[in-house]
Amino acid sequence: METKKKDIRALTKDQLREFFVKEGDKAFRGNQVYEWLWSKGAHSFEDMTNISLETRHMLQDNFVINHIHVDTMQKSNDGTIKNAVRLHDGLIVESVLIPTKSRTTACVSSQVGCSLDCRFCATSRLKRMRNLNPDEIFDQVVAIDKESRLYHDRPLSNIVFMGMGEPLMNYNNVLRAIDKITSDEGLGMSPKRIVVSTSGVPKMIKKMADDDVKFKLAVSLHSAIDEVRSSIMPFNENFPLADLREALEYWYAKTKNRITYEYVVWKDINDKKKDVDALIAFCKFAPSKVNLIEYNPIDDGEFQQANSQAIDMYVSMLERNNIIVTVRRSRGKDIDAACGQLANKS
Ligand code: SAH
Repeated sequence: METKKKDIRALTKDQLREFFVKEGDKAFRGNQVYEWLWSKGAHSFEDMTNISLETRHMLQDNFVINHIHVDTMQKSNDGTIKNAVRLHDGLIVESVLIPTKSRTTACVSSQVGCSLDCRFCATSRLKRMRNLNPDEIFDQVVAIDKESRLYHDRPLSNIVFMGMGEPLMNYNNVLRAIDKITSDEGLGMSPKRIVVSTSGVPKMIKKMADDDVKFKLAVSLHSAIDEVRSSIMPFNENFPLADLREALEYWYAKTKNRITYEYVVWKDINDKKKDVDALIAFCKFAPSKVNLIEYNPIDDGEFQQANSQAIDMYVSMLERNNIIVTVRRSRGKDIDAACGQLANKS
């Protein structure tokens, strides 16, 4: 019987207002319930104390609140926290809290598993089971915000969609979640503090530009040479670099937002001068920033982090070409919470 009931958070505010009118109540009741669901994070209808008992029971008869539950929480020596989050249907995704001096970042998942096949990423070993709903994405953020306040004495400041899944392959739900996260009726966070990271789905990057989104875009590039990129990210054969670049040019023309590239340098894969030359040529069309991220081994030893000379070569050549470059150290490695390690051990 339970499963027949509708997820109340799948309704828009207007739909909720209409529902109450149909039930012979005031539309305003919809606003109250909506506030409970999205700004107060109610887990049950019982929590909605300014709603009459009778109405709460009526809601109970019609709807469910498919709230996530933090199943296990692991803490790293460096303060990073990883949550294994159980969804209403028993599936698990992971999300991570990453504290630094100046910010606390939530790294959230957008899908259960992933349909892409990046060979260096643990999540790609799990096949894609399903997309997350907007409320399931939103709940991950709320859970991390609570942990941030509890363990680090400050609210969450930033969000990155760099957990499990490809956000642009669950675009509508990601957008609706961000809408709740940024609206005053939700968490009221600034979209400028949100980064959506994609392996590069050209059509969807253009759609984002057309939708005039206000959050930031990061592209997991890893190589600007088709042959190399296809060997480590096989879906590149369907979305070759020329298409990706054309989409990014479109994005830049519309948004005038700098593009961030994520990039791991691996030994014998992309650690030569020709690789940096290709990257510089690829980036040229717009102001760019390259984050060189440390490789987090995923157990089988096929990929190895390049040596420090190779990293230094990247940094100096990029800087000489006026491309901003940062070298990122991983966080939370001891609990498999670093980039690409999610789902490593489950
Ligand atoms: N699908 C999205 C978001 C998930 S991955 C995307 O591809 O952008 C988040 C980042 O971690 C990506 O840049 C990804 O390429 C990188 N990553 C994946 N596996 C990694 C690993 N083992 N070590 C370091 N970074 C990794």
